[in-house]
Amino acid sequence: MTAKYPQPGELDAIESASRDEISALQLERLKWSLQHAYNNVPFHKKAFDDKGVHPSDLKTLADLAKFPFMTKAALRQQYPFGLFAVPMGKVARLHASSGTTGKSIVVGYTLKDIDNWANLMARSIRAAGGRAGDMVHNAYGYGMFTGGLGAHYGAERLGCTVVPMSGGQTERQVQLIMDFQSQIILVTPSYSLVIAEEFERLGVTPDQIPLKVGIFGAEPWGEGMRGEIERKLGIDAVDIYGLTEVIGPGVACECIESKDGPVIWEDHFYPEIIDPETGEVLPDGSDGELVFTSLTKEAFPVIRYRTRDLTRLLPPTARSFRRMSKITGRSDDMLIVRGVNVFPSQIEEQILRDKRLSGNYQILLNREGHLDNVEVRCELQREFADKLSPAEVASVSEALQQHIKTIVGITTKVSVLAPEAIPRTLVGKARRVIDERPKQL
Ligand code: ADP
Repeated sequence: MTAKYPQPGELDAIESASRDEISALQLERLKWSLQHAYNNVPFHKKAFDDKGVHPSDLKTLADLAKFPFMTKAALRQQYPFGLFAVPMGKVARLHASSGTTGKSIVVGYTLKDIDNWANLMARSIRAAGGRAGDMVHNAYGYGMFTGGLGAHYGAERLGCTVVPMSGGQTERQVQLIMDFQSQIILVTPSYSLVIAEEFERLGVTPDQIPLKVGIFGAEPWGEGMRGEIERKLGIDAVDIYGLTEVIGPGVACECIESKDGPVIWEDHFYPEIIDPETGEVLPDGSDGELVFTSLTKEAFPVIRYRTRDLTRLLPPTARSFRRMSKITGRSDDMLIVRGVNVFPSQIEEQILRDKRLSGNYQILLNREGHLDNVEVRCELQREFADKLSPAEVASVSEALQQHIKTIVGITTKVSVLAPEAIPRTLVGKARRVIDERPKQL
């Protein structure tokens, strides 16, 4: 690796532009994006019309507050292609959000969108300390998930050599990192610690591991985990943020020289923080829900998309763009299990498919070592309790585990209990989820 901090001339000009220049570019692009969405997507036209706003009402960046929000639920209703703003002939690629099949959110990219995304991922890897010529080990999953291909194109664009390893096969991960002398790894933070343990098992010490930088995202992780990863792998650990609906990874990325929260690539994604209850736009520095409007996307423009991620906007430091603080939680009930987005309702749906099970259930999450464990506890219906043999009960459990694995995408332990074994909540909401995973500090 060459110098890890950016040298003069290495950055895109806009990364060190004045705030006035950035705002002017954002306003021009925002006008285009609103018009593009309004002209080409009936969903957006109707949402604007219902709210009595027209793209021409946007005169300043603050005017964006007049426009309607997009929610995940609304996106699901448009499955699969209802929000595409270009004819399918211009869509070069599809991806889908993780955690769901069938009604997942499908997003599309034109060649131009893929080009912009590759540039932003290249910018992200460079911010993290990567340079042309580096060997990049990509352990993000390839496929419909945006992580693998997003990182892949970005690393190629930066001029790196990419090892398209994808997730899993820990022994092989470690072998290839050693054999190819990879300097950069892209991986979920939780899986990186599993890889670190494999190094340890083989007796490879942190100073013998060739990696210099790790770029970690797709799930929340805190400063405690940063310290642990850096120590165990002997690297700088940098945070990258993104989501499928907005583009994938590379919406924001930390800079290695400051490590003070992901820098939002504001020339392509306009951020707002809102009060999740009232929808009111909050001043920078306030805690609230992160909302994004795409400024350049052709195939799948998003206008005021409510991410449900809770964070705040911070002033620029290493770049001219604003930063976001680490995600502190979500304003919905979505769980992130080993990088996969899971809604309790998806598990509930699978439980309710089996008439022998009652609708009372609990999802228990804990962390063993570095990986999340999920136990689904459910109950037999009283009428079946005495009729089923132990072997039949075991098959109920196996079938449910299989359904959750194929439909929701996560491995669980399923416990089928006697009727009314799960404590009832007498007041207020049922406590469906017991999350005992340590909080990321
Ligand atoms: P990804 O492929 O990035 O996981 P998804 O669309 O499947 O994309 O999930 C996006 C969600 O993942 C985000 O809304 C956020 O909740 C979570 N996420 C992604 N990156 C990070 C990060 N660096 N820190 C915390 N949460 C993250």
